[in-house]
Amino acid sequence: MTVAALHPADPDEVDSTEESEGWSPVDLPAAQAAARALLHAIGADPDREELRDTPRRVAAAYAELLSPRPFVATAFPNDERYEGLVVVSQIAFTSLCEHHLLPFTGEATVGYLPGDRLLGLSKLAHVVAYFARRLQVQERMTMQIARWLEDELSPLGVGVVVVAEHSCMTMRGAQARGARTTTSALLGVLRDDPSARAEFMAAAARG
Ligand code: ZN
Repeated sequence: MTVAALHPADPDEVDSTEESEGWSPVDLPAAQAAARALLHAIGADPDREELRDTPRRVAAAYAELLSPRPFVATAFPNDERYEGLVVVSQIAFTSLCEHHLLPFTGEATVGYLPGDRLLGLSKLAHVVAYFARRLQVQERMTMQIARWLEDELSPLGVGVVVVAEHSCMTMRGAQARGARTTTSALLGVLRDDPSARAEFMAAAARG
């Protein structure tokens, strides 16, 4: 069994050997002060009784949305030479649009065609949550999930489909309520072989 520790911090910014249990990028007192300033700026009185606790709640909400839980990506040798697609669909997630700081929510379908290693199935959901819990755009999140699987498992192919509703689009702007955005990332065999790609996309469509 090979065990690779996955840390909640952006791998680009933090030494991967760092102990990261409970790590959060959010400075709670600073976020609280900023939420209080925002209340002022939008014409509310932060000292009004009902709003007294709002800055603390806002800071805590952002901290939760932006702090991925650490997990261990457990991979196993593919001793039986399993050659089929492994697909987990309907993985629900909530992320935060980096353009508006408004949430987008949806479901991801994540699959791979194994090579020498298999990943614990629940880990596919953890990977989605890991990349969702940060400031994101859907296209980048989709790609990051796919690349992570490729790096971690060296599979023959990877497929990721993300379908999400962006509150910045459905509550404001175009106000296209119910509109859903689909993004996909296909790597290796799932990109190059039409029948493998069709099998994965059919699994993603079935949900
Ligand atoms: Zn947005």
